[in-house]
Amino acid sequence: MGLLYLGTPLAWDDAKKYADHVRTHGITQFLHIWDRVKDKNGDELLWGDEIEYMVVSFDNEEKNAKLSLRQTEILAKLSAIVNDISSDHDNSIAVPTFHPEYGRYMLESTPGSPYTGYISDLLSVEKNMRYRRSLARKHLKPNEIPLTFTSFPRLGAPGQFTEPYHNPADAVSSHSLFLPEEITNPHARFPTLTANIRRRRGSKVAINLPIFFDEETPKPFIDPTIPWDRSIYSEDPEAKNGAALPDHIYLDAMGFGMGCCCLQLTFQACNVNDARRLYDGLIPIGPILLALTAASPVWRGYLADVDCRWNVIAGSVDDRTEEERGSKPLKHDRFVIPKSRYDSVDLYISEDWMNRPEYNDNPLPIDEGIYDRLRKHGLDDLLSKHIAHLFIRDPLVVFSETIDQDDETSSDHFENIQSTNWQTLRFKPPPPNSTIGWRVEFRSMEVQMTDFENAAFSVFVVLLSRAILSFNLNFYIPISKVDVNMARAQERDAAQSGKFYFRKDVFTNPSPYSSGSSSPVDGVPRPKEKKLRNCFPPVPAPLNGHHKGPVEDEYEEMTMDEIMNGKSDRFPGLLGLVEAYVDTLDVEAEDLAKIRSYLNLVRDRSNGTLLTAATWIRNFVRSHPAYAKNSVVSQEINYDLLVAVDEIERGARSASDLLPKDYTGGNKDQGSI
Ligand code: ADP
Ligand code: MG
Ligand code: MG
Ligand code: MG
Repeated sequence: MGLLYLGTPLAWDDAKKYADHVRTHGITQFLHIWDRVKDKNGDELLWGDEIEYMVVSFDNEEKNAKLSLRQTEILAKLSAIVNDISSDHDNSIAVPTFHPEYGRYMLESTPGSPYTGYISDLLSVEKNMRYRRSLARKHLKPNEIPLTFTSFPRLGAPGQFTEPYHNPADAVSSHSLFLPEEITNPHARFPTLTANIRRRRGSKVAINLPIFFDEETPKPFIDPTIPWDRSIYSEDPEAKNGAALPDHIYLDAMGFGMGCCCLQLTFQACNVNDARRLYDGLIPIGPILLALTAASPVWRGYLADVDCRWNVIAGSVDDRTEEERGSKPLKHDRFVIPKSRYDSVDLYISEDWMNRPEYNDNPLPIDEGIYDRLRKHGLDDLLSKHIAHLFIRDPLVVFSETIDQDDETSSDHFENIQSTNWQTLRFKPPPPNSTIGWRVEFRSMEVQMTDFENAAFSVFVVLLSRAILSFNLNFYIPISKVDVNMARAQERDAAQSGKFYFRKDVFTNPSPYSSGSSSPVDGVPRPKEKKLRNCFPPVPAPLNGHHKGPVEDEYEEMTMDEIMNGKSDRFPGLLGLVEAYVDTLDVEAEDLAKIRSYLNLVRDRSNGTLLTAATWIRNFVRSHPAYAKNSVVSQEINYDLLVAVDEIERGARSASDLLPKDYTGGNKDQGSI
């Protein structure tokens, strides 16, 4: 979440008058940044995670687990505590910080300062995450627990799912049939975003997740819990007029998506070209890690036939008009736009020779005026297209106090559009007036129930990012195939039963791949490195000239096990690549064991030894004595599930199908900074 301004947000009819103003000045602001930092070079690896929590309030008498809406109070308290801890320590200790998020029951935490490339930092990630969790936990009410759980199973279900109760009839921003106004962070930005998405779109958002048909689920499934005949808001009849599909779980508000929790990572690159290379390298990884971290099979009290949050969030902020969605001919709007502003990346942006034009095969509406302006300023085709594609969107929240800005020192208008394009990867230019470099954010992962898992996936991705850069790995496949993978990643049990398009030969040069202490290119031994490096020479030109066979021959469908653990000698699997990279590091035996324990978790999830969180949750529900085999996740099942999640996290309950046997829970290890 970007900075939160205090100010007067404009309703959509007023905000839209400033759309061109925001875009024009946003581009001016970007160009000032570009001129200042396009040649910035030599930045070290800095990286950090963002972890989101939902605060759950347990009523042990009624056996109900509800979302606690005390975000404002909790954040005020945590921020005072963080300040106290900081003043008790010398400056060398950076105390983690907590941030607001969309849901009024959510918290986000980040390390107090980014991690560096030192191995010791790699090993501090889990401790840091655990410290954050125990800090939050200690300062909540005794019956409140911060859970890292992707989607709250009974959000929007009948009965009481928030503490305190609020009636959905009061949902003046979303007009939802299911979620009260109070689900949303009260800061003006969030209700305004919610209302302006609805107003711009011309209807409520409409998400339909296929129901998981169990033995007793009625067929067809017509959801009896939808208030079909409510008539409070003008959009109320949408459900019965076709927005709510049979055999689906219907969701009608931003909160269903933006109220989910995820795990994100941001990496600083050496320079803009490396950032572009890393961005591209991680694009095909987005869906793979979405499937591996799948953690959200229950929605509005029902088991769904999907395991992930992604399409729910995409739909929950889909502000496109009917014309933009292509369901009416273009008359008032400028573009037909194939995707929501929350969706997968549409364009590879690296200028390396590896990036063949054929890979950018998605339709790409761009703002031609902005594209021309960027080109005239000297930017290359791909980066100009990237920005001109993001800038087809309107700004959704405009504050009357900040319409006029100093474009040399501010990036607010740029960030207004940039930070409301929520894609699997985000290419983050340096902010003005800072020493921060070019960064890439990896955004697809679902948050895991324990910090051991969250650290494991974070460590895996940071090591993979190094392998991509240091071995010049080539993961390119047509971006339309990455989108096919995104859809497949969300299907039930994708990590076990799905197949994904992946590149067969990931090495840039035909020389045999070698690992260990010798260079993969020339086989000459090189000293092991003590630190994760950030700056690498440009990708060498191909030894045999540009071999340009048909793109279709470069990739094939693979199982998750093959993608992660290897298929042939040209593809050792992502874990094989990471292991080879780890071999180039000078790591103490004990530290190596810890790193291996993280990689083992990722491996066990990819080969089926351990379940994904989604499968574990689904199994829990389906084997609960109160489960009527009809897809319904009742208040009682939800309560028992979330109690179990907390117990597992603390180590008070074992889950040997989900976690390694030697997992030590939060009770034993509260982390440190
Ligand atoms: P967002 O805009 O995605 O919400 P946040 O500020 O919440 O961003 O989180 C950004 C993450 O990036 C944090 O983990 C932070 O530690 C990390 N970070 C901060 N500075 C840098 C940097 N220069 N390079 C890379 N990561 C950084
Ligand atoms: Mg967040
Ligand atoms: Mg954040
Ligand atoms: Mg982020």
